[in-house]
Amino acid sequence: MKWSSLGQWLQRSLPNRCYLCQQPVDQGIGLCRWCLTDAEPGPLCLSCSTPLPQAPPWRCGRCQSRHRWRPLVCAYPYHSPMGYLCGSIKIHQQLGLIPPLCDALAERWQALWESGAIDKPKALVPVPMHRSRLPLRGFNHAVLLADALGQRLQLPVRDDLLVKVRATVPQHDLSGAARRRNLAQAFAATEADPVEGIAVVDDIATTGATLAAVAAALRRGGHQISQYAVLASAMAR
Ligand SMILES: [Zn+2]
Ligand SMILES: [Zn+2]
Repeated sequence: MKWSSLGQWLQRSLPNRCYLCQQPVDQGIGLCRWCLTDAEPGPLCLSCSTPLPQAPPWRCGRCQSRHRWRPLVCAYPYHSPMGYLCGSIKIHQQLGLIPPLCDALAERWQALWESGAIDKPKALVPVPMHRSRLPLRGFNHAVLLADALGQRLQLPVRDDLLVKVRATVPQHDLSGAARRRNLAQAFAATEADPVEGIAVVDDIATTGATLAAVAAALRRGGHQISQYAVLASAMAR
């Protein structure tokens, strides 16, 4: 979706009041600054999103023993009021939430690479949607999020590296193993030249199965993945 048509979407979904507390919103879109400030989580483990008492170190004790891992940056834990709102961009088409939530993620993400906790990504790759789903929803939320983040962080968005070649059943009712089976071979890399330092972008990480399937397809296409970024993560158990 181009920004002009996104603007029309936003106009239609623009609330006059904060989605969380219903107070009039005087600045920005969708959420008031009090709710945004209140919802700011402290440091979260960059592997499993568990709250950390302090950071560095940026991984919890359990995750520090894992040698193979890739940073996952999120703005909010999923199991919080703000995490629920992150899911409603896709489910309830609340596109007015994209600007404030992407502001929050961009700010947190940039602080992480400026402090040296993670590398700065070189390109953003949104999780693709199967072409049969696009007419139903009208937009790919991951593309809108990657565009908004790319603008804020001055990073290129590469939605030309990957396609979803198989329509999968909705993930939310499936177990972890069933999610992985559902997603196996669902994504395929295009013929594009290899890209390094990719950050895969989506709205929510629940088990991480979608992000892992996307990363595997990108790797098969010769690309190098550096990290994942989502608005909200439910990875903490
Ligand atoms: Zn509010
Ligand atoms: Zn952890």
